[in-house]
Amino acid sequence: MKKSQLIMIWLLPLIVIGGLFIPVLGYLVLAMIVFFIILSFFKGRYWCWNLCPRGAFLDGIISKISTKKPIPRIFTKQWFRWLIFVLFISFLIYRILHTGGNLIAIGAVFVTMCIITTILSIILGTSMKHRSWCIICPMGTLQEKIGKINSKKNN
Ligand code: SF4
Repeated sequence: MKKSQLIMIWLLPLIVIGGLFIPVLGYLVLAMIVFFIILSFFKGRYWCWNLCPRGAFLDGIISKISTKKPIPRIFTKQWFRWLIFVLFISFLIYRILHTGGNLIAIGAVFVTMCIITTILSIILGTSMKHRSWCIICPMGTLQEKIGKINSKKNN
């Protein structure tokens, strides 16, 4: 594991466990999203391989117990990845709209989304390659797209 990952990995239990008791910790997820969207303009998926707390968790812990089986081909299809993205974002927006603007409830939405995606990443990471979730992770798909758009502009 990289040094940067060793530092960042602690944010994952802070959010998925601490967030159950202190929902405003969910805003850390929002802060990370804003940060990596900006970063991806310049460095593509640098966040994923160096800084993402869940990526660090998958590399440092799940890789040790992973069956390392190949991922299904459908995971690499663009239409499938964007379908996951649209479903994820729609669910996120739907849940935020149902908070009635309550800031604590909005924080709880981000905590819940982080818990759900972490559980998914563990299921996928243990039953196949440890970074399987990262192939279809909506936030990874987004960073890849932003990075590509920017590199096309610069060519
Ligand atoms: S793909 Fe998603 S979970 Fe994986 S490292 Fe990137 S942001 Fe984190």
